[in-house]
Amino acid sequence: MLKLKFRFTSNHKDGFNPSGVLDSIFIDLTSRCNFNCRYCFNTDCVQADTLDLPISAIIKMLLDNDSLKISNWILSGGEPLLYPHLDEALSLFKQNNIRPKIATNGTLLTSDVADKWVSFGVAAVQFSINTLNENKFAELSNSAPVLLHKVIANLSYAIKLPIRIVVDSVLTKINLKDIFELMPFLYNLGVDSYTVYLYTPGTDLTEMKHYMIDFKDMPYIIDDLINLYLQTCDTRVIDTNLFPIVGTPIYEKWKNKLDLRIHGCSAGQNSLSIKANGKVSPCVCQGAKEFICGDITVSNLSKI
Ligand code: SF4
Repeated sequence: MLKLKFRFTSNHKDGFNPSGVLDSIFIDLTSRCNFNCRYCFNTDCVQADTLDLPISAIIKMLLDNDSLKISNWILSGGEPLLYPHLDEALSLFKQNNIRPKIATNGTLLTSDVADKWVSFGVAAVQFSINTLNENKFAELSNSAPVLLHKVIANLSYAIKLPIRIVVDSVLTKINLKDIFELMPFLYNLGVDSYTVYLYTPGTDLTEMKHYMIDFKDMPYIIDDLINLYLQTCDTRVIDTNLFPIVGTPIYEKWKNKLDLRIHGCSAGQNSLSIKANGKVSPCVCQGAKEFICGDITVSNLSKI
């Protein structure tokens, strides 16, 4: 996934360990989702069977953490709020003094759930919001337009809680203009950072044929986004894994005006991904059999 992460505050920095030190673990808790996004590349979600990661797999990973010392636990899905064992899982994390991060589409994160997550010690919540236009929202997520208002209401509540709130968007032809509205909107609301996914494995899906941005337009979009970022906020930090940008005219133009932090791919270097079926892949985007390096339901993290 190629992304630009625009930081609105400078008080949070992601840690980057040397290669070979496992630091981050991404867990797809469930394949259940109340959306059916056109760009969804999660193979567990698009297949017919419902998959929920057994709670015993989480217990096994937490036991291993004594030796592995993983500092970033990122819970997603599908939609993690549809995982039937979510409260039990969060309680286990709390007992182990781990403060997970949760990625959600935000529709089900009502005020009572958000309050509960604070009591569980959840460190951060990532909302996925692609547009502020309800028709475009419905077109991209294949869900009811009215749900967008729920997401914005839930985001507006969560932002007031002692929890770090970040937002991401997937760039498509439909929401290109909207991303330029979203950035200042989210900054003024008080979110901590805004990530724009320029390219995901979902970009190549047949369903995305008419929605994907032409690659030749990408440099201009990146340049415009950086320009808008500098006009929007005083923090000058962008994290990106767009490493081919180094040495390009855009990089030369901006490198002395902001802290443009370029990171390599962490797959198999610092991070692992656990799929809802228990299979383990180095890459959060790849669940194909060529990438599978173990199964948490029959083995354990240390061995894998
Ligand atoms: S909300 Fe996420 S998991 Fe659900 S369909 Fe959309 S991209 Fe896939």
